[in-house]
Amino acid sequence: MPWASLLATARLRPDMKAFSSVPDNAPPKPPGRATEFFALSFGEAGRAAATEWLAQANSSAQRRHVVAEEASDHALATLRGHLRTAVVGLRVLIAGPEADAYKAAAVACEAGLVQEELIVAVTNRNAKRVFCPHCRTETRTAKAIGAVAPCNGCGRQLEIYHHFSRRTASYLGFMADAEEPRPAALGVVA
Ligand SMILES: [Zn+2]
Repeated sequence: MPWASLLATARLRPDMKAFSSVPDNAPPKPPGRATEFFALSFGEAGRAAATEWLAQANSSAQRRHVVAEEASDHALATLRGHLRTAVVGLRVLIAGPEADAYKAAAVACEAGLVQEELIVAVTNRNAKRVFCPHCRTETRTAKAIGAVAPCNGCGRQLEIYHHFSRRTASYLGFMADAEEPRPAALGVVA
């Protein structure tokens, strides 16, 4: 498959700016006024940030905190379920490591949450997800952009490319030592 088609399939977005509003490890911005507050946190640091954030919310509002180890199918289903029944005036905080927070943020955006309703607080960037365009598996890795990680699905050696898909919350993997040119060389990546 030519790269242009692969890229169209992966529906790449250039960055996460649309819903990444705080620098790493900074306390999330105050919750503001809302009728309901919902926090989904991953890991210890995420949990602490979410607890503090909820404590600042106006006490007459409904507050809920869902704690998860990682952005598992179960955690994401809980988020989806909550957003489905959410009232107008909901404010959502997602706090945790990049790989989990971005994955959950993608689900929240897919559910129709807009930027003003969602705050994403990234506690660390040690782990990321890499999308394999060959078998469409996502592999979680601690490797840096530019490094090579084996795909969990097909075993291909994937170079972690710097393009990030907001929809899948993953970086594009590029088969290391492939004969095809890198996507940027084709000029199809915004
Ligand atoms: Zn693969």
